[in-house]
Amino acid sequence: MDDNLKTICFLIALIGILFTPCAVADNSVLTTNINAQYNVDPDEETVHVVKEILFTNSNSDTKFMRGYYSNYNYYLPSSAKNIVAYDTEREVVFRENAAGYHTFYFNHKVWYENNYKFYIAYDLEISRNTATFYLNEQGKNTAVTIEVPSDFDTHIGRDDYVLDTKKYSNVYSFEKGKEWTRSCVVNSVRPTERLTLQGTAELRERDVGIEVNYWEGEEEWAQRTLDTTLKSLPILEKTWNVPFPEKYNISITQASIDETQGYGGFNSGRKGIWMLHSSSEEILIHELAHYWTRDCNFEQIWLDEGYADLYTYITLNELDPEKADARKDRFIQKYNNMKGDYDLPLDQWITPESIDSISENEVNFGYKKAFVLTYEIYQTIGLEQMQSSNMDLVQSIDPVTNEEYIDIVSSSTSENMTFAKDFIY
Ligand SMILES: [Zn+2]
Repeated sequence: MDDNLKTICFLIALIGILFTPCAVADNSVLTTNINAQYNVDPDEETVHVVKEILFTNSNSDTKFMRGYYSNYNYYLPSSAKNIVAYDTEREVVFRENAAGYHTFYFNHKVWYENNYKFYIAYDLEISRNTATFYLNEQGKNTAVTIEVPSDFDTHIGRDDYVLDTKKYSNVYSFEKGKEWTRSCVVNSVRPTERLTLQGTAELRERDVGIEVNYWEGEEEWAQRTLDTTLKSLPILEKTWNVPFPEKYNISITQASIDETQGYGGFNSGRKGIWMLHSSSEEILIHELAHYWTRDCNFEQIWLDEGYADLYTYITLNELDPEKADARKDRFIQKYNNMKGDYDLPLDQWITPESIDSISENEVNFGYKKAFVLTYEIYQTIGLEQMQSSNMDLVQSIDPVTNEEYIDIVSSSTSENMTFAKDFIY
């Protein structure tokens, strides 16, 4: 080995010692700029997604080691269909490694200070008049645009976009530099004349007419909504041990997020139930349970909502025990996760008229805490004792206060109910 070569080897070793640990620990040496476009195409019942990905190798390690990059890992949602990838010359091969995680194999080696541009395209399924989908983006180097036909009302989970109103479409743009940390929902509907599907629930004291109002193209939603209603009402009646309390029939209307004021659904009594078009059957059962909770004349929101969610659990447990358990576990876990930041006594919990991104967490926590308490009461005293206290609750004419509630439940059981006070006060 001559002297020059020795010096070079020594320098390489030194550089390796000095710089390698830093470079390994620092992912910022790679930059990926992403340009994501979401195009809502109701005629095709599809959102076409195209992501232009510009990968830049700025990892100086690869300069010394003659290293290069030749693939890229990227997450795609499980709902993505017809996935293709290509660069300006030809197809880019890819493979799914774990759920959603795809590796894309570049058609060129990307040496230090070089870059590689390619495209990933896929489709998301929507309906003719409703679209609910998620923007799955990460980091700060992403620009996002969403193009929606102008006859759709669109609501996006974050509002720091610029809206460009064109002749036939609305374009929502998030410029590069904004931080993307979690998936963001887009809710978009084309309000058209509603159609109606009818059914009858045979309940203890009378037959109750059910009317489901829905947008054209949402026949499946309407049928599912009617079926869940017809199955749930008799279970709610049986488990409350109180006949359906209202004199009027039930109407359920498929609604936009503006119409539900940000909620998944709400029950406005005689005027019917308004359901966000993307809401689950669990929310529908919750709204149906409110026919009974409102009859109890609860003074406190936590009782109204806690009982609605408890009876959603009990009903779902008969229809689909796995789903009921999963929902219960999710609620309890969410309560424990949020407790540190949002805890407050339940007697101070209020829900706002409408939900925005600031009030969302407080509202969410209140629901979870109310459920955790009512579920614990149910576990402590059992269904039969709950039914006997339900009789007292529905017979009350004045609003039932926290104290009266504890008295009523305590009188139906020999169990110690002091734990409830720790949640309420
Ligand atoms: Zn509710």
